[in-house]
Amino acid sequence: MKITSAEFVTSAVKPPHYPAGELPEVALAGRSNVGKSSLLNKLINRKRLARTSNTPGRTRLINFFLVNGIFHLVDLPGYGYARVPVGERDSWRKMIESYLKTRPNLKGVLLLVDSRHPPTAMDLQMYGWLKFRGLPAAVAATKADKLSRSRLLQSLRVIRAELALAEGDALIPFSAETGQGREELLEVINR
Ligand code: GDP
Repeated sequence: MKITSAEFVTSAVKPPHYPAGELPEVALAGRSNVGKSSLLNKLINRKRLARTSNTPGRTRLINFFLVNGIFHLVDLPGYGYARVPVGERDSWRKMIESYLKTRPNLKGVLLLVDSRHPPTAMDLQMYGWLKFRGLPAAVAATKADKLSRSRLLQSLRVIRAELALAEGDALIPFSAETGQGREELLEVINR
């Protein structure tokens, strides 16, 4: 798939604020600071359409981007940022859950995990929950440029094993620095 256009549509907290219409959607989920904004920007070839920052947990809304005029990429708020008060964390969880549960447009979820670390408890919970809901999922292992080739392969094995990736669920090493994995991710999203 080639990206010919990408634009920000809207931010939403609740279902009534989601964009109207029936365009298919692919959502991006992952813990804060996993590299979600960087991945999104790289996918759509923009420097700053999705905000990147060194302050984890800044993106607190569900952000909808229209791609090629035919589908939405949906940036879900990053989870698991420790310095956020419990009450706020709870409201994030509800925000993410109600999107994943109620949105008929949703066709699949791209879960981002950090290639340098084993999946966190919340990554495991998220992946398990997606499978439980029967949502097609793919996993991107971010910041792949930070590992040597052999460490990366080792790490991918750990991620695949710990998440118990279902047959057919892709695990794609990705780097926003080098563009590694970009074509593959676009293919998975297209599917
Ligand atoms: P988000 O909170 O998940 O949206 O994460 P960001 O995209 O803001 O990235 C968090 C930090 O990781 C930033 O300092 C990024 O520059 C860095 N980062 C993100 N992706 C990559 C990557 O592929 N390679 C490297 N080396 N750093 C990355």
